Amino acid sequence: MVFKKTSVIGLGLIGGSLTEAIKKYQVSEHIIGISRSDTYKTARDMGLVDEGYSIDDLQAGIRDADLIILAVPIRKICALIAEITPKAKSGCIVTDVGSTKHVIMEVANTFSRKDVYFIGGHPMVGSEKSGFNARSSELFKNRPYAIVADKMTPQSAIDSLCSMVRVIGALPIPIDAITHDRIVAGISHLPQLAVIALMNVIGKENDCENRYFQLSGPALYDITRIAESSYLIWGDTLISNRRNISNILNSYIEELKLLKKSLDKPIIKDDFDRANKYRNQLLKSGKV
Ligand code: NAD
Repeated sequence: MVFKKTSVIGLGLIGGSLTEAIKKYQVSEHIIGISRSDTYKTARDMGLVDEGYSIDDLQAGIRDADLIILAVPIRKICALIAEITPKAKSGCIVTDVGSTKHVIMEVANTFSRKDVYFIGGHPMVGSEKSGFNARSSELFKNRPYAIVADKMTPQSAIDSLCSMVRVIGALPIPIDAITHDRIVAGISHLPQLAVIALMNVIGKENDCENRYFQLSGPALYDITRIAESSYLIWGDTLISNRRNISNILNSYIEELKLLKKSLDKPIIKDDFDRANKYRNQLLKSGKV
């Protein structure tokens, strides 16, 4: 066991999956789930948590915890950091799973306490599904897990969090918040927006002529899977990484313009060759 008492706030896709993984791989002796009452009661009945509390009963839910995991939308993560830092026990590690890190680390710095250690986290996992019922204890297997620590954070606290990440099967990747946000704009936020745009272009055509969907094959189904994603989570992610997303969208728009220009020329073969090569490199990097 890495921790004695872990409180997970928000038993949705990520929080529910972490809770199940922490239980299954025996990361913590005692697990507390803090969420909507129907969810924590279900989690308790299933034996995934030892105790459950509503978010209105936060103080009781985090009492004596040596690890607190914030697994709610980014705006709420920021509000919770302000609320729980003064209440956490001395020596407690607080972490989050938010998809962007800069804004969260700024808030954590503002409310920092010498004896409570905030370490940002971002499991590079995901699904178009959301909520407790979409959880899986295996969600983190062989996936990168970004770890964003402050210079002041004791190495022992970072090591404890990295141990948890390894025990649930993920690969801890230490990174600073600014680099993290720039990179995820490209590898996560741009693909999401590209698919939203693509789905809306094809959907609009289908509104006028419904044979678009009727004729669709696996390529459209595969590529538009993440068009099912919920704005409830994505809204905060996009707002908190606006500048990086805007920059990478500009690069994408330029690439689309070039593709359009080269449509009538054999030069477009070069674009396919380049894309084939990059896709191969991605596959070789081993995480698909
Ligand atoms: P989810 O919708 O499955 O779960 C969200 C949880 O937060 C639920 O328990 C919900 O009841 C609770 N919640 C929502 N709004 C709340 C509020 N205002 N106050 C209190 N509780 C609230 O979402 P998720 O996918 O688990 O996302 C949770 C966090 O994980 C987000 O910060 C997101 O950026 C991050 N994340 C998501 C993914 C992904 O692909 N879904 C991947 C990595 C990280």
